[in-house]
Formats: sequence, structure tokens, C-alpha cells
Amino acid sequence: MKTSYILTHLAEDREKYFNAVSPPIIQTSNFTFASMADFRKSVEDERAHHIYTRGNNPTVNILCKKIAALQGTEDALAVSCGAAAISNAIASFVKSGDHVICVDNCYHWAEEVLYNFLKKFGVTVTMVDGRDIENFKKALQPNTTLIFVESPTSLMFDLQDLEAVTQFAKENNLITVLDHTYASPMDQTPAKYGIDLIIHTATKHIGGHSDTLGGFICGKKEHLNHIFNQTYMTFGNVLSPNDAWLLLRGLRTMPLRLHRSSSTTQQVISFLENHPATEQIFYPTHPSHPQYDLAKKQMRFKGQLFSIKFKNSNIKKLEALVDKLEHFLIAVSWGGHESLALALEVPYHGKTLPIVRFYIGLEEADYLIDDLKQGLEILEA
Ligand SMILES: *Cc1c(COP(=O)(O)O)cnc(C)c1O
Repeated sequence: MKTSYILTHLAEDREKYFNAVSPPIIQTSNFTFASMADFRKSVEDERAHHIYTRGNNPTVNILCKKIAALQGTEDALAVSCGAAAISNAIASFVKSGDHVICVDNCYHWAEEVLYNFLKKFGVTVTMVDGRDIENFKKALQPNTTLIFVESPTSLMFDLQDLEAVTQFAKENNLITVLDHTYASPMDQTPAKYGIDLIIHTATKHIGGHSDTLGGFICGKKEHLNHIFNQTYMTFGNVLSPNDAWLLLRGLRTMPLRLHRSSSTTQQVISFLENHPATEQIFYPTHPSHPQYDLAKKQMRFKGQLFSIKFKNSNIKKLEALVDKLEHFLIAVSWGGHESLALALEVPYHGKTLPIVRFYIGLEEADYLIDDLKQGLEILEA
């Protein structure tokens, strides 16, 4: 299915809605029935019927159909944010006494779910360096049921070989969950390697304007029905029709925005790689990345998020650098129209590295590069 078809036509059913080009926001909590018999029939399969917006809402469903098509999965469930996607996917598939293998340097809130929340229910976790499949094999225990990966990770950009991970998981009957937030659906298709649950935020690439939260879980119908019955209806962290509408609007321009900020990112990176203060670039599609070949195999597109280690720098100097930048905002998250920078000390394979993580938004390249030029003077002083 062509991306243009998905973004413009798929699931719009305009004839139901006065042929309006923009889909309606079905702002309702409740749906009514012609008879009790109709009602009873619908509640037999809540996922397939409009009963209550905590389960199903038409505006949200338009979005889910488009996301499933973009990810190449049978089905998708929308939740209120990316963190809810992570917790629903994991909590639906582990039980007390299970063991999970999780990639290290993963998204902080995934670690929180696994270590701090599920620990209360007797779930144990082994963190592995996901760059080598052997580490997953060594971590396997008789009670391992789930593997959590994030490729690339979103601070230091380590990759996992998704084909090798899914093969290992299938041999051992483990569910695979991938946080696919860094790579947009335009960039990587994990479904083709057989990842069971592809989860990602909608807050970043899809919303694109730093004004909405959302998240998705994509996979087979059978798996998503399981989540629906296990945690989706009980946790109740669903996406509102209003937010679904904003995300549908964001989705229309996603390819344009991603192309623009990706191309600007290449210009910013070439400026930085030639700058005397730069020591190392952490960017999965950069030829200096140790897993560049794997990135070329798994990813189609160059992202907008990267980290830089500067020479002779410490966190204080990096904080001064970020403070001096005028066109990069200091903020968490990313994926909006605005470029961002954060100075961080990151634990990374046994070391603690002071880095600056940059996100490149929709501004012009020279506007950002000029700002970096003046900011970097502080490292030379
Ligand atoms: C931002 C992010 C999330 C969480 O998304 P929210 O919508 O903020 O809850 C999950 N994973 C990664 C890698 C992220 O960067």
C-alpha cells in the first residue's frame, strides 16, 4: 500500500461523514443501541463494536488503521502516550515469576516499568548489551518469556540485529517487544523481521508539533486482542478522540516533515564532523557508527536525533554550551517543529559519558549551524 494512499484515503469512509475531507471528532463517551438484543450481541466482542470510548471510538480507529498499514501489521491499538504503550504491552504478556531480557540503555520509563513496577509482582529482568546476540542467549533462563528491545536506542543509538533477535525468540517461544520510537514508520519496518509487538510514541514524529501525546501498539490481531482483554480496558489509558484527530492531522505531513528535518540533520552533522571540538558522533546512519552496516540493512532513512561527545569537555562545559545556544530550545522529548539540545551525563557500557543530544526540527540549516558556531566558541575558550 502506498504511503500517500494510507495518509490521504485509508479508513476515512468520507461518505459516512457528509464527504467532509477532514475526519470528524466523534466526541462521545457512549454509544447507544436499538435494542437489548443488539447490545448483548455487541458486548460479546467489545473490540469489534462501538460500545464505550474506553474500548472503541471511530476517530481513534481511523488513526489505528492508518498506523497498522504504515507499520505493515495486521492491527494497531492506540493509547494515551508512548509510556502507556510500553506498560500495556509488557504487563499483558508477563505474569508473576517470569523473567524478561531487556536491552541496556533503553528508554528510561521502560526500565521503570520492568524494574520498579513489575518487581512488585515477582518479575525479574536481565539487562543485556544488545549489540551482540550472544548476550541475549547467555541471559536466557527457564522462566524467560519476553524480550524488550529498542533499536536504535534514543540516547546513544545502539542497534540490535532484529532478525537475529526474532529468530532467537522464536526458537525459545518468547514474545518480542520493540520500542520503535526513534525510527518512524517511514524509516524501518520491524514487522518484516517478525517482531511481535511494535510499540512507539505518537507524541514525536506523528504529532510533530509538540502539542499532543499518544502511543501505539502494533502487531497481530491475536496479540492485540490479548492486550485489549488484559490491560487496555482495565488500565484505561486510552487516546481521546480530540488527540486522535490532532495525530491524524500530524500524520498528513509526517513524510514532508521527516524529509525536511532529516536533510537539515545531514547538513548539521557535516558541520559538526568537521568542527575541531567534535570527538565522536553517535548517529546510527553515520559511517563512523560501529553498527553502520546493520543500520543500512534495517533502516531506510536518516533520523533527526543524535548525540555528540566533544573533546576535553565535562558536563559543566556542555551545560554552558547548551545555555549559550539561542536557536535550540532546552527540553526533553523531540519530534516537534523545534530544534532541541540537552547536555547529559549518560551511563554507556561501563563509562559515564558527557554528551549533548541534539534534535533537529524544521528550521533552516544555516540558522541552526550559525547558532552552533557561536555556541561552540565556548569550548575553545
Ligand atoms: C518519548 C519516548 C517514549 C514515550 O513516549 P511518551 O509519548 O512521551 O510517553 C517511549 N520510547 C522512546 C524511545 C521515547 O523516546
